Amino acid sequence: MSIKIALIGNPNSGKTTLFNALTGMNQYVGNWPGVTVEKKEGKIKSAKDAVLTDLPGIYSLSPYTPEELVARNYLTEEKPDAVINVIDGTNLERNLYLTTQLLELGIPTVVAVNMMDVVRKKGDKIDLEKISEQLGCPMIEVAAIRETGIDSLISQALSLAEAAVSDKKNMFPALVEEAVSHVEKLIPPMERGLRWHAVKLLEGDKSVAAALSIDSAVLEKISAIRSRLEQRLDDSIEGIVTDARYVYITDITKNHYQKSQKPDVTEKIDRIITHRIFALPIFVLVMLGVYAVSIGTVGALVTDFMNETLFGEWIIPGVAGFLEEIEIAPWLVSLVANGILGGVGAVLGFVPQMIILFLLLSILEDCGYMSRVAFIMDRLFRGLGLSGKSFIPMLVASGCGVPGVMASRTIDSERDRRMTVITTCFIPCGAKMPIVGLIAGALFGGSAWIATSAYFLGIGAVVISGVMLKKLKLFSGEPSPFVMELPPYHLPLAKNILKTTWERSWSFVKRAGSVILLASLIIWVLNSLSFECGYISEGETGTSILENLGSLIAWVFAPLGFGKWEAAVATILGLVAKEEVVGVFGTLSSMSEASSAYLIFEGSRLCAYSFMMFNLLCAPCFAAMGAIKKEMNSPKWTAFALGYMTAFAYSVCLITYQLGALFTGNGSVLGTAAALLLLAVFGYFIFRKKDFSIIDFTKQRLFKRQ
Ligand code: GDP
Ligand code: MG
Repeated sequence: MSIKIALIGNPNSGKTTLFNALTGMNQYVGNWPGVTVEKKEGKIKSAKDAVLTDLPGIYSLSPYTPEELVARNYLTEEKPDAVINVIDGTNLERNLYLTTQLLELGIPTVVAVNMMDVVRKKGDKIDLEKISEQLGCPMIEVAAIRETGIDSLISQALSLAEAAVSDKKNMFPALVEEAVSHVEKLIPPMERGLRWHAVKLLEGDKSVAAALSIDSAVLEKISAIRSRLEQRLDDSIEGIVTDARYVYITDITKNHYQKSQKPDVTEKIDRIITHRIFALPIFVLVMLGVYAVSIGTVGALVTDFMNETLFGEWIIPGVAGFLEEIEIAPWLVSLVANGILGGVGAVLGFVPQMIILFLLLSILEDCGYMSRVAFIMDRLFRGLGLSGKSFIPMLVASGCGVPGVMASRTIDSERDRRMTVITTCFIPCGAKMPIVGLIAGALFGGSAWIATSAYFLGIGAVVISGVMLKKLKLFSGEPSPFVMELPPYHLPLAKNILKTTWERSWSFVKRAGSVILLASLIIWVLNSLSFECGYISEGETGTSILENLGSLIAWVFAPLGFGKWEAAVATILGLVAKEEVVGVFGTLSSMSEASSAYLIFEGSRLCAYSFMMFNLLCAPCFAAMGAIKKEMNSPKWTAFALGYMTAFAYSVCLITYQLGALFTGNGSVLGTAAALLLLAVFGYFIFRKKDFSIIDFTKQRLFKRQ
């Protein structure tokens, strides 16, 4: 039998980093809470028969959130042989809150005090020996990122796994202890003994009551004990127990823990970066810089080279010339040159831009800036009655919507969670980047503002949707409590950054060789055959099947300014994979995709921008739809989500295009009327009355006291 060891701790305390160090595996490390939503397992390198489980990060064992439940069920049902409680040494007291609960469970626990490198640098003094003595469990200093201290951690955990350990007793003030021991005596004798059970029953935890099959008469007695205590201390039971834990923590740390008083670099930087007024403009500038480098200057140079020179002048003409020389059928030449190389090449051409974008984003993420963005957004969201917790999935979605949608699991309120699933894909993911790059390059001279506006368009769509949806009964209710921790800034680690960039970029190359290849082939076939005359060879004019199909739906998009069949086909194919939008432009003609886009939009920036907006905001690709379906777990909600996104995209584009046309002197009465009507509808939903004053902060008190 192998030994089971579990890693548990607050979000962002470094569990996954430690997990990777101990197992040699490569799990995704994110510099924000809520990245690990499912438990992961791996063999410990230095101890052959020990299995390590990485559990989602939690603040407490009270099941407020799905991941608290995952972690708690794992601990109580699968009973690991030992627990490594990872705590962030720079935030000792808050992290010990969970430790006090773990100790009540009677599972052998060793505390890994992580981030010791930062603690030392800051000059905080921790007398670990004394604290460990009082807490009654071993504590080991580690720096997961440097892999220091992990050997003694493992040997400690392994020796604990063999030893018998009893649960922690007596940590609360006398009155509370008295109530706990009263409850303890009411538990059936066979189940008696675990302090955890008594405390949870006192707190009124239903799942513990059910697990121990406590009968209703006993539950009533317990409830009486609880009421009496609440009356005597004039507080809710939640508050009483929370307080009791913090009093205990303060007690054991007060003489042995000293935080350095000097403001450190991080605090100084944060004073500017998270400034109430400057925070958002700084964020806009940062993103502008990111896009200026990735899509503008450097990215554009490389992509132009890839598209125009590498594919446009060398590969495609070269291959076509070779095929013609060996006198292969002309249709086959066109299939290879236009169909395959045109479509796949168009997508591959954007890979360099993507690599640069991903590289820059992961630097921002790893050094800690993106956590600040979540913090800034939380402030903004909260002001609007939304939960800032919804922003984490969105940060993840700027890589890919699928993990973004999955990250919504960290949101405990079902309504907020659904709302987040609906809005997360508004944020432009990596696959949408080629669309942005194409439009920016073909019609806007590669301006970085196009991509920046696309990014903030996504955030704007999330905020507006949030405000509108939150006022519907379906989504109303207090925003989920969310505490954003700001990890100290650190120099980004090359290992982390390269890994993330590589993984994200490689998945595009793989898709170019599979999904995009197949889609390009189909598009080429449909575009080369006509109902009347079969294969349309070069120079022949005929209406292709694709054009027939495209024209069937093209009128739908006419009010948005892109009623050409090519644009309709590209939009529909975008549902297969968003980068295929660009692939379609590459396959449809023997020109480069940029020239073909310029022609299709007749050089109109307004039409092209509207097209881009629609493709960014409408229903996402199949993979993301699948993720939405899985997270919603209901066909009705899935349909609502996809329908909402598409309707939202349609309305926004209609308003933009029609009012834009009016402005440039091409407006129509009907179009303007429709735009104004939609604007009024938005206005109505945004400014409808709703009272946000009833916010229940009970769940937050845990974090307020530090
Ligand atoms: P989890 O949410 O608990 O799984 O935390 P992660 O493993 O994802 O780490 C959160 C952040 O803390 C990442 O940016 C890590 O690079 C960083 N980190 C983890 N361990 C250490 C450490 O020992 N020292 C420092 N300075 N940073 C660390
Ligand atoms: Mg993690």
